[in-house]
Amino acid sequence: MGAARFESGDSLRRIVSPPSTAAAVVEQHLAALRACTLCPRMHKPVVVGRPVASRVLLVGQAPGDKEPKLGRPFAWTAGRTLFKWFHEALGWSEDETRDRIYFAAVCRCFPGKRAGGGDRVPAPDEIAHCARWLAREFALLRPQLVLPVGKLAITQFLGERPLAVVVGEKFRITYAGHAADCVPLPHPSGASPWHRMEPGKTLLHAAFAHVAAHPALKI
Ligand code: SF4
Repeated sequence: MGAARFESGDSLRRIVSPPSTAAAVVEQHLAALRACTLCPRMHKPVVVGRPVASRVLLVGQAPGDKEPKLGRPFAWTAGRTLFKWFHEALGWSEDETRDRIYFAAVCRCFPGKRAGGGDRVPAPDEIAHCARWLAREFALLRPQLVLPVGKLAITQFLGERPLAVVVGEKFRITYAGHAADCVPLPHPSGASPWHRMEPGKTLLHAAFAHVAAHPALKI
């Protein structure tokens, strides 16, 4: 991204967990999520992140074929770009980012490949099935800041709108009865040049300025 760091990493080390949400409750949630079999066409295992009781919730789209083998979201090339963005904006390593942000997704299982190549886009019924897990995470974590990554994730919170209209902005959303700020991010996939070209580069920088300035990362 080529962005300057907005804050020192040290000043951002103290992300406060919701007082009523013990890590054990998040662990229990993840154990139930790992056992989910609601979507027969989805490939197993279910991919989940670390049991982080964070007020910052990142929502990806769906894992690719590498993530189930490696056992974590954003484990491959898109993840490298995503964690580079966090490092450039906040000074966080990948490990620190995974420890400070709860990683959710629109769908938590790899959908499989399309006949013509590329990953299958999750079907509406699969998105609806997995939304119940996302709603549960909103209830458990009560996030102050939501970071949807990529069009499919952004659409769940803001409807279908062009990336150039939503990236770089901060929105107030209500999801599953919970109000939060929402800062959309483009998908860091190498397949899409959007974030490497203008206006994408400038809008991505503006989005991370919102992230870095957010109170959920400053408490
Ligand atoms: S995509 Fe979500 S709802 Fe569907 S089987 Fe996987 S974890 Fe369950």
